[in-house]
Amino acid sequence: MTEAEIKLIEEIVGESHLQTDAPMSEHTTFKIGGPADVLCMPQNKEQILKLLKAFRENDIDYFFMGNGSNLLVSDEGFRGVIVKLLDDFGKVNVAQHGNHLIVNAQAGARMWRLGMTILENNGAGFEFGTGIPGTIGGAVMMNAGAYGGEMKDVVSEASVVTPDGRILELSNSALDFGYRRSAISDKGLIVLDATLELELGEKDEIKARIDELTAKRKLKQPLDVPSAGSTFKRPPGYYAAALIEEAGLKGFAIGGACVSEKHAGFVINQGGATAADVVALTDEIKRRVFENSGVKLELEVRKLGF
Ligand SMILES: Cc1cc2nc3c(=O)[nH]c(=O)nc-3n(C[C@H](O)[C@H](O)[C@H](O)COP(=O)(O)OP(=O)(O)OC[C@H]3O[C@@H](n4cnc5c(N)ncnc54)[C@H](O)[C@@H]3O)c2cc1C
Repeated sequence: MTEAEIKLIEEIVGESHLQTDAPMSEHTTFKIGGPADVLCMPQNKEQILKLLKAFRENDIDYFFMGNGSNLLVSDEGFRGVIVKLLDDFGKVNVAQHGNHLIVNAQAGARMWRLGMTILENNGAGFEFGTGIPGTIGGAVMMNAGAYGGEMKDVVSEASVVTPDGRILELSNSALDFGYRRSAISDKGLIVLDATLELELGEKDEIKARIDELTAKRKLKQPLDVPSAGSTFKRPPGYYAAALIEEAGLKGFAIGGACVSEKHAGFVINQGGATAADVVALTDEIKRRVFENSGVKLELEVRKLGF
C-alpha cells in the first residue's frame, strides 16, 4: 500500500488505532499468520462507512475480522487493510420488554462478555454462546453454535452494511441462517450490530448451565494451546472428530501443526506452526479420512491471504 493510502486510513480511525505490517500471529487464536499491510480498529459506524468508501475509491483490498478465532492467515499475510472489530466497537445495551430481554451488541462485542451481561440481566437461552471465543459479528456471520444452540435461535435482527456502503436491517429470516453460514457470509456483508431477544429466567439456573458447559469445554477441548476451534464442518450424519480418530490421525503432525490428542476435531499449533503446516496437515487429514470412510471433510476455518 502507498504512504498516501495508509495516511487516508489513519485519518479515519486515528493513529493509535492503526498498525502497519501487523503480524497476524498476534491477532489470531491460532497464533499463525504473516503481516497485514495495515490493521485498523474503527470505533464507530461512521468510521466503518468512511473506510468502505476509501477502499472503494482507491481500489484497496480489505477484510473484516473479529477476534480471529476462526481464521487461518497465510504466512505471507495480507496485502491490504484488515479491519478488526473488537472492544473498540463492542458496546452492549440491554432493555427489558415484558418478560423478554432485548440485547443490542455492536459487532465487536465478545461472546463471553455478552453472555455475562445477559446473565446479570437474567436473560436465558444464550448459555451455549458464552464459551465461543469470538465476537458477535463473527458469530452471526457463521451462525456459530454449540451444545444444541445456534445464533439463529437468539438473533432477532442485525444491522449490516453492504460493500458499497448501504446499511440494511435484516430480520432473522432475511439473515437466512444455515449450518455455519448465513446471508452475511454468502453476500459479503459486514455486521455492524445485532439484536438478541431472550426469555427471562432464573439467574441461578442460567449460571449453572453456563458453568456446566464451561466445564464440558475444559474437559473435552484443548483450550490451553492455540487453535481455531473445530477445523472442519460436521459432515451430514457424521462427526468430523470421530472420522479423524477412526482414520488413526490423533496426534498426527506436520511441522508444528498437530491433530489434538484431546479432541481430534481440533488442529492445534503445538509451537512454531506455519500456515503452510496447517494447510498440509488439513489436506492430508481430508485425504486419509476420505480413504478410510468415503466422507469428504470441508474446512470450517476461514482462510485469508492464500
Ligand atoms: C477454542 C475454540 C473453541 C471454539 N468453539 C466454537 C463453538 O463451540 N462453536 C462455534 O461455532 N465456533 C467455535 N469456535 C470458532 C470461532 O470462535 C467462531 O467461529 C466465532 O464465531 C468466530 O468469531 P470471531 O469474531 O473470532 O471471527 P474471526 O475469526 O475474526 O472471523 C471469522 C469469519 O467471520 C467474519 N467476520 C468477523 N466479524 C465479522 C463482522 N462483523 N461482519 C461480517 N463478517 C465478520 C470474518 O470475515 C471471517 O470470515 C471456537 C474457536 C476456538 C479457538
